[in-house]
Amino acid sequence: MSVGKVLLVGAGPGDASLITVKGLLAIRAAQVIVHDRLVNTELISQAPPNCQIINVGKTSNHHPVPQEHINQILVDHALAGKNVVRLKGGDPYVFGRGGEEAESLSHYGIPFEIVPGISSSIGGLAYAGIPVTHRNYASSFHVVTGHMCQGNEPQNWNALAQLDGTLIILMGMSRQEEICQLLIQGGKSPDTPAAAVMYASHQQQVMAKGTLSTLKDEIARKKVHAPALLVIGKVVNLSDVLAFTSHQIDINHEPLLQAI
Ligand code: SAH
Repeated sequence: MSVGKVLLVGAGPGDASLITVKGLLAIRAAQVIVHDRLVNTELISQAPPNCQIINVGKTSNHHPVPQEHINQILVDHALAGKNVVRLKGGDPYVFGRGGEEAESLSHYGIPFEIVPGISSSIGGLAYAGIPVTHRNYASSFHVVTGHMCQGNEPQNWNALAQLDGTLIILMGMSRQEEICQLLIQGGKSPDTPAAAVMYASHQQQVMAKGTLSTLKDEIARKKVHAPALLVIGKVVNLSDVLAFTSHQIDINHEPLLQAI
């Protein structure tokens, strides 16, 4: 029996229609789909009727499926001759541990492909009216994790506080208050614009907006919780003029793909 192929597919930031054409076609042809929690269920419903769906999603209270186990699931199904789609939120190589999954596939000599996706760190913020760069306000952007790895502080917040560019923090909500404080201690003005965006690009998107010193109150007021994006920098203020209402596209609409 020949070995199957694994496609590591980025599902995009939330809105199902933000997946790539290649990603959607891969789902429609999959024999096995292994997906995360953040993936829009509308996308899963695009799988063929006989496709096996495996949810390895992590919730903050329930223990995640260990990464080694996920790697093994991908390997086992490919060795059984199945074509596997590993569907991950945003882009597979942005904090999704996609690199480790691809390494494991490479190690076993299993053919794989990466289908990049729109990362929430860029596309999700665009939906909140926040351009990550702007000629007048930010000449760089820095995407970092706020999540501690085995109790170790992941970032040098003092060094990040010195940067002028837009600072985007994923997985930072449980420590948002502390992170804002660390950035102020590192030298950022307490008046630096800051926001938290929940359900970015979804219909129920919510944004809390303030400054490094007021963000925690705004987050409480707007009831924003994880998973959400934290963004710090002058570009946050542009959301006053750049926020938009999204035109919803139904991905079940057949002629959509036939036309492409
Ligand atoms: N690979 C993903 C990121 C995985 S890390 C990407 O490229 O987008 C998971 C973190 O991403 C969450 O904790 C949250 O900070 C952020 N995130 C992903 N999707 C989001 C969404 N729709 N709204 C807000 N935050 C999101």
